[in-house]
Amino acid sequence: MSNETTSVSPITYVQEQHFALVGLNSAPVNALSKAVRVGIIESVEKALSDDKVKAIVLHSHLPLFSAGADISEFSGGDLSPTLPEVLEVIERSTKPVIAIVGGNAFGGGLELALSCHYRITHAKNKVGLPEVHLGILPGAGGTQRLPRLTDLKTALDMIVTGTPTPVTALGNVFDLIVDSAEDLQGAAMNFANDVVEKDMPVKRVCDIDLAMSDDIETLFAQYSQGVAAKSTGFFAPGQCVLAVKSAFTHDFKSGLARETELFMECMTTSQARAQQHFFFAERAASHVQGIARDVKARDIKQVAVIGAGTMGGGIAMNFANAGIPVIMLELQQEALDKGLALIRRNYENSAKKGKLTSEQVEQRMTLLTGTTSYGDLSDVDLVIEAVFEKMSVKKEVFGMLDEVCKPGAILASNTSTLDLNEIAASISRPQDVIGLHFFSPANVMKLLEIVRGEKTSDEVIKTAMKLAKIIRKVGVLVGVCFGFVGNRMIEPYGREANRLMLEGATPEQVDRVIGKFGLPMGPFTMGDMAGLDIGYFVRESRREFIAHDPSYCIVADKLVAQGRVGLKVGKGAYLYEQGSRQPIPDPDVIEMAKQEAKRLGIQQREISDQEILERCIYPLINEGADILKEGIAAKSSDIDVIYVYGYGFPVFRGGPMQFADEIGLKQIRDRMNYYKETLGEYGQHWFTPSPLLNDLADAGQMFASVK
Ligand code: NAD
Repeated sequence: MSNETTSVSPITYVQEQHFALVGLNSAPVNALSKAVRVGIIESVEKALSDDKVKAIVLHSHLPLFSAGADISEFSGGDLSPTLPEVLEVIERSTKPVIAIVGGNAFGGGLELALSCHYRITHAKNKVGLPEVHLGILPGAGGTQRLPRLTDLKTALDMIVTGTPTPVTALGNVFDLIVDSAEDLQGAAMNFANDVVEKDMPVKRVCDIDLAMSDDIETLFAQYSQGVAAKSTGFFAPGQCVLAVKSAFTHDFKSGLARETELFMECMTTSQARAQQHFFFAERAASHVQGIARDVKARDIKQVAVIGAGTMGGGIAMNFANAGIPVIMLELQQEALDKGLALIRRNYENSAKKGKLTSEQVEQRMTLLTGTTSYGDLSDVDLVIEAVFEKMSVKKEVFGMLDEVCKPGAILASNTSTLDLNEIAASISRPQDVIGLHFFSPANVMKLLEIVRGEKTSDEVIKTAMKLAKIIRKVGVLVGVCFGFVGNRMIEPYGREANRLMLEGATPEQVDRVIGKFGLPMGPFTMGDMAGLDIGYFVRESRREFIAHDPSYCIVADKLVAQGRVGLKVGKGAYLYEQGSRQPIPDPDVIEMAKQEAKRLGIQQREISDQEILERCIYPLINEGADILKEGIAAKSSDIDVIYVYGYGFPVFRGGPMQFADEIGLKQIRDRMNYYKETLGEYGQHWFTPSPLLNDLADAGQMFASVK
């Protein structure tokens, strides 16, 4: 498209032959801000009043068509003209409007295209309506126009799941799909010429009639059931289905009104606030304050992983998946072979599921080599150590790395609990040491806690943040403390779950309450899956901090002493039938808790679901407040990202800190104090509100206000 413009960006307007060429030009993503909306209306009006113009061509100057609404406007302000108003102007235009959708059109961007009279794209393009991820629904006619152009199931899938969809799978949404992006421009202008020369009609989607039938009614009923099962706890998906249904039960205009009603019902929920908070939180996590712009990330072309066990294997796969060669080091050839064979099995399983081709499996395996000799690591740019969780072993490994690695190589540890500063201080280049705390399974979990040591250089931090993106992780920068952010906060959660069992709750009850709150599994199921021995070893390493509480995870300790370490042996807090992961409540465990309670003088009682929820979640939030105060996390939204991606905290609650902000910090503080007073000595030990929580509660502020 020509760049000669007669109006100011973010919308360009060029009159050429019979056409008004209207260009979206609002970097970086053509968000449909007020300025863009005003510009579109002005352009359409100008074209309508110009006799030379026979058709309007809407196109984008950027690689993508438009990413949709400007969500920074969600918090309010003068939004006029609204997007639905703009789209009505386009749709009502008496001159044909042709959209050239050269790149992705998402949300309002796709709705904009749907309001045009003709749409043209290329076969590799994808479009989508991702509003559901923000706790809302497409509110600019998407739920009414899309089902008029494509089959109902596809429309529902797109709107309810928010998944980007190939344009080739979209029925009549596009009037012309050319094979390649390069051909689009020419083909689109030929098409536009045809529209004018053949006097093709102004083809409005709103004029297409949709009618309800028994079959469609049945499809909606089945679909609704599926949505209820698949998106438990989420409000917006059900609203999406209702909105699409109204396209079949209402005429276009009242269908739009119904869509607006359902949209507004979503917009005012805590879920929409939470999901929109999370959208920004995730983006904000990658911005690290205090590192100068001119600090350059180092190149990472070759990686080494020390230890080919559970974590080492998964970590290595991330790099191979990103096309980066990895050398794996074990001391014994046998352990190395075992580790590499396991990786191959993992890839082959993915291939069986159709996620990889067999060539891709081989390509990735050729990127993975093994060694038992440190000498082979002399040229790597990054080493990630994932050996046994023991300080002496870690120091020995880092000592070797210090000897063999080239200057400037980044030396990272995957430790979960050990002091990174101590590891760094044991070698000659602490500035190159960083924690890269992957979560298990490391090739699957999206979270990467990037642990900044006292001496870690800015360059190393910047490299790690960049690397997280390359290996498709969400990197969050944290400071050094026991358990970093995630595991430090999970500690009081697990402690309370265990204590509640002594006080009379059952593992099943606790897990049910937490499941209903929205976590994928409760603390007892999670403990059994991870292995109760893991928590036990962590407690063993810090008995001096918990010795004052004889009740501390006492049942878990007893279970481990009996060899009941969880799912892997068929029994832990629950029983498991051979080959099954389904927990079965075990009366012996409940009896064990009863006996321990008696021994410790703890009165058992009936415990309400609300108390279970508050006692598991509020101390976790309280720990988060300390973490924030200590600067271990730079902002509360970083903690939320860690919890959603690392622990399955429900995104519709936005993460623990957003959840706290939503219900009010005074409420959290007051309930902490309530338990402090009512749980005797135990309450005094564990329920003191964090000073930051206290201060913010007194000031009527939120965690989000801590900068
Ligand atoms: P693992 O026991 O499965 O694997 C450790 C591997 O390291 C073994 O294959 C062992 O042979 C090898 N190894 C031990 N000493 C070595 C040495 N000196 N040189 C070379 N190789 C050596 O353990 P894992 O679960 O993979 O844990 C590894 C690290 O990752 C630990 O620091 C752990 O805290 C951390 N981590 C584990 C998890 C988890 O869920 N398992 C999660 C996050 C972090």
